[in-house]
Amino acid sequence: MGGAGLGLAAGCAVATCAIAAVMVGHRVRSRRRWGRAVALVREFEEASATSVGRLRQVVDAMAVEMHAGLASEGGSKLRMSLTFIDNLPDGSEEGTYYALDLGGTNFRVLQIQFSGKGSMILTHRVQRQPISQELMTGTREELFNFIASTLKQFVQREDDGIDQIPDVRKDLGFTFSFPVRQLSVSSGLLIKWTKGFSIKDAVGKDVAQCLNEAMLKTGLNMRVAALVNDTVGTLALGHYYDVDTVAAVIIGTGTNACYLERTDAIIKYQGLLMNSGDMVVNMEWGNFWSSHLPRTPYDISLDDESPNRNEQARLSSGFEKMISGMYLGEIVRRVLQRMAEESDIFPDAVQNLSVPFVLRTPLMAAMHEDGSPDLREVGRILEDHLKISGVSLKARRLLVRVCDIVTRRAARLAAAGIVGILKKIGRDGSAGVASGRTKGKPRRTVVAIEGGLYVGYSMFREYLNEAVAEILGEEVAPPCLFSALLPAIVIQHYLKQMPSCPDYLVQNHPHCQVLKQQAVDSLKIKLFHIKPFLFLVSSTPK
Ligand code: ADP
Ligand code: MG
Repeated sequence: MGGAGLGLAAGCAVATCAIAAVMVGHRVRSRRRWGRAVALVREFEEASATSVGRLRQVVDAMAVEMHAGLASEGGSKLRMSLTFIDNLPDGSEEGTYYALDLGGTNFRVLQIQFSGKGSMILTHRVQRQPISQELMTGTREELFNFIASTLKQFVQREDDGIDQIPDVRKDLGFTFSFPVRQLSVSSGLLIKWTKGFSIKDAVGKDVAQCLNEAMLKTGLNMRVAALVNDTVGTLALGHYYDVDTVAAVIIGTGTNACYLERTDAIIKYQGLLMNSGDMVVNMEWGNFWSSHLPRTPYDISLDDESPNRNEQARLSSGFEKMISGMYLGEIVRRVLQRMAEESDIFPDAVQNLSVPFVLRTPLMAAMHEDGSPDLREVGRILEDHLKISGVSLKARRLLVRVCDIVTRRAARLAAAGIVGILKKIGRDGSAGVASGRTKGKPRRTVVAIEGGLYVGYSMFREYLNEAVAEILGEEVAPPCLFSALLPAIVIQHYLKQMPSCPDYLVQNHPHCQVLKQQAVDSLKIKLFHIKPFLFLVSSTPK
């Protein structure tokens, strides 16, 4: 009995020890797995580092590539295309204009009245029309006939009382956001369709001419006077509000930039360009590449796996993939997937995290900007959108750190790109007082920035603005960076009397004062929609 009791006691002790050993083993393994997740994030952070020194190397590389792209066709990955826009609006424009904006699933027709005084818009009317799937994949005749007849109905409806001389042919501004080889300010050949469009018989054709023919057929007395892309539109809009605007950058689904260049610096077209002065150059900077870009294994695998998966991803290049809204969420997903594979911090999530592009950038931004102490929003997004539950608070914190690394790198690289443009045109302060130093008389420089990522993601914007000032150094006055859409947001702050309202935006933009009573959403739409008009104004001979 005693023996049996002893035996039982001994058996219990062995079992307890075994259980304890198992528990300790679990804890050690779990700590090791957590340690692995942290190590992965640390490695990623190191590989993504953007010290000021490295950013300055990117600045130099951007300026060098710009020179090379201007020197010869194909001389650089930067295409540096001519736009034939040599005159930008300055706020003194007057009269009624029509424009058309085609670049996605909707197209818009617009009518706008400029006051002629101090960048003031009197009225603007917009009609938005969806483009059906059939039209997106049909024939060019069907698409352009549809656009022309919608425009005709709009003009007939809106013209009453405004048009002083109804029989005179009207000019039309056409914002066409697909790749085009520009032939003149009002003509250009479609290189290829993107964004779900596939109208084969339009490729290689002059899209302005296609529209002109359709307008003629429908009996609409109008002609395309300006054909532009969205980057040039942003520059025009920036210049309309502030004549010191020298460059424009789009950071949305993709990214691109354009700027004002001296025609004598566009070496590759010296024979072609007769007039001296300036011309807007479309950089196509998404294609920029430099060995100084901090590339991680996740960027490399994104590149390698793109061809079969996604047309846009296949066509984009290094810079765009590190910066733009299409990819930031995807880079985060790739890091999280590896963390899920090599640790246990996202329970049972490997499968859900292995779907490419499942984590969209706006969702990633919302997790990054979750200000709640227990990161409730991060938990909700993981559950609702990725079907991942039971993620601990410390794992959610690690996830936010991954978002921060990706966004910070993107914003700082975009900042380096912007300073690269300023360097190319001698406005980065490196050439002395005249190019932007605060001592002596500074030369004011404004860069217009637009696109959903910059406008909608405040952490991105803060990192970008901060990095521009950091790269330029304390002695140089940083350029004024503004988005035409942002004043609308600023006004909202202004109306709420929030102390953080950046005064320079309100001061620099008279329309802030004019429009401040209106709802923020309608303001955004208003400012966004006037872009094509401004092209038209800038290109119409006075
Ligand atoms: P597009 O570039 O397609 O013309 P936008 O300039 O509106 O259109 O940019 C849309 C892109 O911007 C989205 O695909 C998304 O990646 C990004 N984006 C939009 N809103 C946000 C947001 N709040 N936070 C982060 N990214 C955003
Ligand atoms: Mg756009």
